[in-house]
Amino acid sequence: MNLLEVKDLSVSYGKFRAVDQVSFTLAGGQTLGLVGESGSGKSTTARAILRLVEPAGGQILFGGQDVIQLRGADLQKFRRRAQMVFQDPYSSLNPRRTVAQTVLEPRQVNALATQGWLDRLLQRVGLLAEHANRFPHQFSGGQRQRIAIARALASEPDLVVADEAVSALDVSIQAQVLNLLADLQRDLNLTILFISHDLAVIRQICSRVAVMYLGQMVELGPAEEVCQRPRHPYTANLVSSIPGSSRTVPLIRAEQKTSGGCVFAPRCWKAQSVCWQQRPPMQELESSHEVACYYPLTVEEVVTV
Ligand code: ADP
Ligand code: MG
Repeated sequence: MNLLEVKDLSVSYGKFRAVDQVSFTLAGGQTLGLVGESGSGKSTTARAILRLVEPAGGQILFGGQDVIQLRGADLQKFRRRAQMVFQDPYSSLNPRRTVAQTVLEPRQVNALATQGWLDRLLQRVGLLAEHANRFPHQFSGGQRQRIAIARALASEPDLVVADEAVSALDVSIQAQVLNLLADLQRDLNLTILFISHDLAVIRQICSRVAVMYLGQMVELGPAEEVCQRPRHPYTANLVSSIPGSSRTVPLIRAEQKTSGGCVFAPRCWKAQSVCWQQRPPMQELESSHEVACYYPLTVEEVVTV
């Protein structure tokens, strides 16, 4: 069952279209990665899903309910069921609030939250009961992100959107927080939309991955398959830029002017005339592996990438 269905979502900032007809689904209990370089519209997509920015078009269904139409009490309920963890735990935590105050804030039922409940929640994210009365500055970056995760979990959400949640952390700390998220996903049957510009990080935690480029979705499929057999030229470029990748060919060419057509055509080494004229629709290549490209990489090309 899909917990989240995003259909043709578009978001504009004035005349600029930051997200352009993006569609994907996220099954309950699964982790979907959203990857793409900075400025590709990942955060804007997340903000639209959580009703932090108004879409210009499209549909967002959460448990079958149209999120964009939610008002009043239904919107409040949705806000508890869908929580966000941000990149920077320094600015997303209020420095004047203790851990207990921070974590209890979104629960909105403080009276019902017992000491035992708080202790268990802190333990759940790898903190100690005695941390409850301390302030953010008394913690390391990794610990602060655990506090942010505890706050997200406090309202017992179904969906957690983690936007670059480990990007500011050192690699060893990153791995610990990724492990925590994976444990939570499994133990609590959480559904996670995991956003990162780093495909290597996505690969560690996500079962499926969606690749965005300049506001558009270009590839969507099982994470391992997309990493091992990228079919969109842009994804192949992302894969080849993972440190340690044997695929080191720079699959990119100097930018050229474009109007309409494929959003990647100006940098694509495979672009033909149709690519400059018509936006390629998402098409299924193999079961649950889709790509928006007229000339997806062939098996031979993938091997030599
Ligand atoms: P990502 O998270 O993938 O880096 P964003 O969703 O943050 O991408 O941004 C997508 C595009 O929208 C970028 O070009 C960015 O400059 C622009 N953008 C983001 N937020 C705003 C805003 N509040 N006002 C105007 N433009 C914005
Ligand atoms: Mg972002």
